[in-house]
Amino acid sequence: MSEHKIAMVGTPCEIMAASKLQYYTDSPIDVKLGLFCMENFSYKYFENLLREYDLKMDDIEKFQIDKGFISLLLKTKETVKIPLSIAKRIIRKNCNICVELTSETSDISIGSIGSDDNWSTLIIRTKKGEEIVNGAIKQKFIETKELTETQFKLLNKIAESKINKNIDTIERREFLARPVLYQRDINDDSITKEISQSQFLDLKSNVIDVGACVLCGACEYACPDSLITINDTKPLIKGECHQDCHMCFTVCPRTYIPSDLINDNSKALGDFIKIISVKSLKHTQGQDGSIVTTLLDYLLTNNIVTDALIVDKKDHLAWKPYAKITKDIDEVVKSGGTKYSVCPVFKAMKNIDEEVY
Ligand SMILES: Cc1cc2nc3c(=O)[nH]c(=O)nc-3n(C[C@H](O)[C@H](O)[C@H](O)COP(=O)(O)OP(=O)(O)OC[C@H]3O[C@@H](n4cnc5c(N)ncnc54)[C@H](O)[C@@H]3O)c2cc1C
Ligand code: SF4
Ligand code: SF4
Ligand code: SF4
Repeated sequence: MSEHKIAMVGTPCEIMAASKLQYYTDSPIDVKLGLFCMENFSYKYFENLLREYDLKMDDIEKFQIDKGFISLLLKTKETVKIPLSIAKRIIRKNCNICVELTSETSDISIGSIGSDDNWSTLIIRTKKGEEIVNGAIKQKFIETKELTETQFKLLNKIAESKINKNIDTIERREFLARPVLYQRDINDDSITKEISQSQFLDLKSNVIDVGACVLCGACEYACPDSLITINDTKPLIKGECHQDCHMCFTVCPRTYIPSDLINDNSKALGDFIKIISVKSLKHTQGQDGSIVTTLLDYLLTNNIVTDALIVDKKDHLAWKPYAKITKDIDEVVKSGGTKYSVCPVFKAMKNIDEEVY
């Protein structure tokens, strides 16, 4: 059993992968801080789109998505707005079949929708999440206020619109191609049977080749024989699987979801204990209310977890996301801010138990 207790940050699809890792394996992930996520973009196509505006990734100080635009705050302090109707073409294909806005299987979900500027909306989902938030309030890491009814309704409406729009896309895709497995409501016995007959080639044909892979890296992390590597665009296999292994297919967030984890699409925000607006009393450099950074600071400072799994930027490639495990609060602070593209987050957990700190 791992000695690590990890607090991870991730988008709803990454949080689902973490939930499956916890469900099926002895995972070191202990706390899940889930982000809201409407869509994500291809890094390469984003670079190409910026070129049309005579911009480079390196010119940008902060990305924000607001009211139908991608807002780019430049290092020169000018702002450039790209309509989402134009940016639509650089959205990753898998995001069009994603029916989850608020990381419903997390302990705590965090996003900007529903809160005032520089505040975050926080959804407490589990007892563990509630204890963390109460502790952070008590130790003056965060302050809170209620969401108004209008703010709550806005959040619910946006979550509903994402579900409805993408369910339509799923239905169209299923008519033309293969079933979208993670949306199949089949019982746990049938899931066990399906899994027992599935290996990497089934993952490839049902998820990777049909544009459903979210590039989370859970398959690469979970493969006991290290046969999977993820290049910039997709997981690849080198070598032969042994007969009784089905791990990559089992933990992928885009294969069957067991009944304990599957989202109920009629509840747009999933199950929760409480929704509030929150602001950091310790940090200011984050994307919205700097709440993710502050909760990780609280968790590490109080030794509630041993490590944080965060997504930073590569030093030599502006805004290119890069996942890492750290115990260092300065690194957590440096990783604040949203990078609007993907990286295989679970790659960073591979070999964690062999690392020397
Ligand atoms: C792709 C994407 C789309 C999003 N879309 C929405 C949206 O539509 N509506 C909304 O309200 N909120 C959205 N969010 C969440 C929002 O941008 C903020 O992350 C959230 O409000 C937390 O802000 P903060 O100031 O508390 O976080 P901070 O304190 O700034 O911390 C941000 C944390 O996010 C992590 N992170 C950054 N980029 C990524 C990434 N690509 N993948 C995984 N983790 C990452 C970092 O590790 C960092 O710890 C999105 C986030 C992402 C990554
Ligand atoms: S599939 Fe796309 S839209 Fe859905 S949570 Fe993942 S990154 Fe966000
Ligand atoms: S050995 Fe197992 S986890 Fe690795 S690729 Fe084959 S089926 Fe997947
Ligand atoms: S195929 Fe691998 S990288 Fe892609 S979504 Fe599934 S687990 Fe994640």
